[in-house]
Amino acid sequence: MRINDILKKKKSFSFEVFPPNPENSNIRDIYSTIDALQQFRPDFISVTFKSSGDYSENTLNLASYIQQHTVAEPLVHITCGALDEHDVDNLALRMREEGLENVLALRGDKPAHFEGEYLKRFKHATELMDYLRQRHDFCLAGACYPEGHIESESLYDDLVNLKRKQDMGAQFLITQLFYDNNYYYRLMRVARKMGITIPIIPGIMPLTSATMFNKINNMAGATIPFDLRVLFDRFRNDKAAMYEIGVSYAVTQILELLANDADGIHIYTMNHANVAGEIYRRIENVIEKELR
Ligand code: FAD
Repeated sequence: MRINDILKKKKSFSFEVFPPNPENSNIRDIYSTIDALQQFRPDFISVTFKSSGDYSENTLNLASYIQQHTVAEPLVHITCGALDEHDVDNLALRMREEGLENVLALRGDKPAHFEGEYLKRFKHATELMDYLRQRHDFCLAGACYPEGHIESESLYDDLVNLKRKQDMGAQFLITQLFYDNNYYYRLMRVARKMGITIPIIPGIMPLTSATMFNKINNMAGATIPFDLRVLFDRFRNDKAAMYEIGVSYAVTQILELLANDADGIHIYTMNHANVAGEIYRRIENVIEKELR
């Protein structure tokens, strides 16, 4: 089923997972994660894609598993930076064979040790969308950035390009993670003013460990609010406390977003089904009321 058909009827509840690196993890673990996530009845589960284009088989295999074994729709990420038309056609063909109908079309970032020319054929996600729209038949989605994409001078400049995603056939958008909901509300206000009318689903990543906190802290474009920083400073060496803080903060963020009519909720699970489950259980009644 196409995710845009779901979104015509209701707001969505969804998760993101990533295919584990086959060299250092047991590939079977991800299937148990998917099985565990299923019980929270997500409308869709998105599966990430390596920006180098490597291991794209793993993304497709995982999406096929979701298609065949769960009630959720798979959303296949495709980053186009390392791909040419032939690569995209091959992926599209494989997707069609597996009955996969939804693509999150992305540019990707050049990996540190990437050899060869990046952005050789597709310079932006819009070019991939345009290509897919003309040559194939998928429900297309795009990414957006509540604090503006790091390469854009202003949020306005970024949203001019975001409008292009809608013009190129994107039927919904998923945001980059953020920890201050005001960025999402501002994005919604400005995007709607600029004629972006498609659903913009907020992406929430629970910060449940000091390692994750440090990673996000160093990532440009994701502001850590003062109240969250205070909690981190006080409890960063306490694993159990960090877990509680991450879950509680995400729960509060989601409740506030839903109270303010956000277009859905997408949780970046980092393959931690227990975290997603704990969030769901704490606010099950609100999720059931607002997102079913
Ligand atoms: P683009 O839309 O191409 O935007 C990149 C920059 O170019 C922006 O500043 C934009 O304003 C500008 N721009 C866009 N279109 C044009 C245009 N037509 N002309 C001029 N300028 C333009 N990365 C992965 O490697 N794998 C994943 O699976 C993955 N999943 C993601 C999922 C979500 C929901 C999000 C938010 C990000 C994800 N990323 C993933 C990261 C993403 O690849 C990077 O953020 C990347 O820097 C930008 O990708 P994009 O598709 O938004 O690029």
